[in-house]
Amino acid sequence: MARNGIHHVTAIAGDARRNLDFYARTLGLRLVKKTVNFDDPGTYHLYFGDAAGAPGTILTFFPWAHAATGRAGAGELAETMFRIPRASIGYWTVRLIAQGAERSERFGEPVLTFRDPDGMRLALVGVPGVEAEAAWDNGEIPQEHAIRGFHGVSLMLGDAARTGAVLSVFGFAAAGQEGDTSRFRVDGTALGGIVDLRTVGGFLPARMGRGSVHHLAFRAADDAVQAAMAQRLATEHGLHTTEQKDRDYFRSVYFREPGGVLFEIATDVPGFAVDEDAAALGTALKLPRFLQPRRAAIEAVLPTLA
Ligand code: ZN
Repeated sequence: MARNGIHHVTAIAGDARRNLDFYARTLGLRLVKKTVNFDDPGTYHLYFGDAAGAPGTILTFFPWAHAATGRAGAGELAETMFRIPRASIGYWTVRLIAQGAERSERFGEPVLTFRDPDGMRLALVGVPGVEAEAAWDNGEIPQEHAIRGFHGVSLMLGDAARTGAVLSVFGFAAAGQEGDTSRFRVDGTALGGIVDLRTVGGFLPARMGRGSVHHLAFRAADDAVQAAMAQRLATEHGLHTTEQKDRDYFRSVYFREPGGVLFEIATDVPGFAVDEDAAALGTALKLPRFLQPRRAAIEAVLPTLA
């Protein structure tokens, strides 16, 4: 079984309730974990995904109510793409009309681009065959139209060549060119198996803020695979990762790729069912062990979500 590809995407949002409403209701993703930013526990960390919270479906947010709006530019993850059944483009065009949805085509696939309430750039891509895959039922969106995890992501870079080389460490290989965009793909991985690198010489650097992606995480099956990837980054690319951090649901190392985007390598283990029942994912506020003595103080400062 292929274990390469995108693990998760983490972004910065504004209001937490608005973020939850948009992703859980409008887009129909499952809230699979409600926790806090381990480095800033007065802030939520909300994880959205498929029914099981599988790697390749996870979009996470730090909602900071007063965050300044980000500025698009070079050196950032510019667009996050989800998979939908090809026949569902029409359904979503109508559903996302208020989000400014626009239809186009890329690499022979129908694409619907739009923005979330904080200005984050998103796309739904019509993919043949995905209608047979199981989908989360949010009680509002017919399951036949539901999102089936990530299609991929698109990075805007001043120079894509070195970033493309780094992607090989995570199992990606060049898979085509369209205009100024080079597509990289993991062979045999349907979920989150695509990274598009768009070369945009002359753009100002992006400025991180509300609506920006904070980092992009790639999958490693376990600690040994992660360590081997980190070793390859050092020996083949001169890139050094941080020490491993325990994020409770996966273990992570981080590094800045040559184009300026923060990359992470996250393990598939242990997953989101480690501290609550799979049927109850996302229903209770979960805290890492080191923050549990502070639960009352943390709950007092977090905004109410429902
Ligand atoms: Zn992460």
